[in-house]
Amino acid sequence: QWQFPRPDATRVITVVNQKGGVGKTTSAVNLAAALASRGMNVLVIDLDPQGNASTALGVEHRSETPSVYDVIINDSPIDGIVQQSPDIETLHCLPATIHLAGAEIELVSMVAREQRLRTALAPFVENSDYDYVFIDCPPSLGLLTINAFVAASEVLIPIQCEYYALEGLSQLLSNIQLIQRHLNPTLTLSTILLTMFDARTNLANQVAEDVRQHFPKEVLRTPIPRSVRVSEAPSYGQTVVSYDPGSPGSVSYLEAAAEIAHRGAPS
Ligand code: ADP
Ligand code: MG
Repeated sequence: QWQFPRPDATRVITVVNQKGGVGKTTSAVNLAAALASRGMNVLVIDLDPQGNASTALGVEHRSETPSVYDVIINDSPIDGIVQQSPDIETLHCLPATIHLAGAEIELVSMVAREQRLRTALAPFVENSDYDYVFIDCPPSLGLLTINAFVAASEVLIPIQCEYYALEGLSQLLSNIQLIQRHLNPTLTLSTILLTMFDARTNLANQVAEDVRQHFPKEVLRTPIPRSVRVSEAPSYGQTVVSYDPGSPGSVSYLEAAAEIAHRGAPS
């Protein structure tokens, strides 16, 4: 269970949901930290101008720091821009700075605007030994998220078990289908993760049951419980996996990561 199998090829997993506050960033950084804590080589690409993933991983992302913006807009090579997360040797981050806020507009008039991230990432991944790359998306379905869809092999959707959880999901799914049809035929919705789950409420259990019925193959068995340690960790520049390894949030992210590793890449 705790010995994670190494994937044959790098799994590039984009974490997406156009809703904000559903646990995208928290899940991206903690799944990444969980896998890295078991010796996997993991890269997190922060694709949200807010830079929350960069903060949580404790990497520098002041406005003058070289960032994913330079990769997407200025063709800067990824090599010189990736930073190691201070807590875990095998965990790296391609940070986001405030400049990324302008990229959505700048991309509009660029050639091959949907493929900028893939073009930069593919040769980098080829020449490195990453087992996993997680892309933390902004809360929209704009060009940054489209770049993530095109660069990825898998989609992971975090779902917060609340009343409106399924609203917007059909729009997200039809966007994924459009990407599959036109830009990235091998993209697969591989994983759905239930976040901020409160097992004591009927509503959360009902929503979880609903989601499992719709996506029996995709939903991970392990839900992530709501836990204050999870929300405290970023203010220390840490993931909960480093900040409080024994806490329920950390243990759940480790279990969810184990499921992802043991299921393997979709065929
Ligand atoms: P998103 O990236 O989708 O906008 P975040 O990962 O930033 O969402 O999470 C939104 C807020 O909820 C953050 O303040 C985060 O700390 C908090 N949060 C996320 N997961 C949990 C959890 N399992 N328990 C408690 N708080 C959580
Ligand atoms: Mg976020």
